[in-house]
Amino acid sequence: MCIFCKIIAGEIPNYTVYEDKNILAFLDIAPHTKGHTVVVPKKHYERLSDMDLEVWQGIAVGLKKVQEKLDMVLKPVGFNIGVNDGKVAGQVVPHVHWHVFPRYEKDGGGSIHSIINNPGEESLEDLYKKF
Ligand code: 5GP
Ligand code: ZN
Repeated sequence: MCIFCKIIAGEIPNYTVYEDKNILAFLDIAPHTKGHTVVVPKKHYERLSDMDLEVWQGIAVGLKKVQEKLDMVLKPVGFNIGVNDGKVAGQVVPHVHWHVFPRYEKDGGGSIHSIINNPGEESLEDLYKKF
């Protein structure tokens, strides 16, 4: 069983922020911001591409509820919400999860654009032809 499945099963304790039938949201053990929360589907999927549409719907609702809860309790002034999908994207725990970072004035953080800056050589026009 993966570490997040163990947390969901109650074998490893967690600080729960929000829970419903689809997801468990808990405070990250190594927070990058005050209230950094991990949102995890209760069923084990390794990657985003493993999840069907029904699961996505439950996640969307769960993320909304988590954001509302964090807003109410911590009063941040912004959020970054994202997924490290795959090893190359920084995924360490092989159970898909959303990172929710509450953001505060002058917290020293960047934007999602600061994750990577490697656009490649191809023009947008050539790239577009492939779609
Ligand atoms: P990843 O790099 O896979 O996107 O992120 C995994 C996240 O899970 C990390 O931010 C890490 O701190 C967090 N994490 C790993 N193990 C545990 C744990 O046992 N409890 C909690 N609360 N968070 C964990
Ligand atoms: Zn799992």
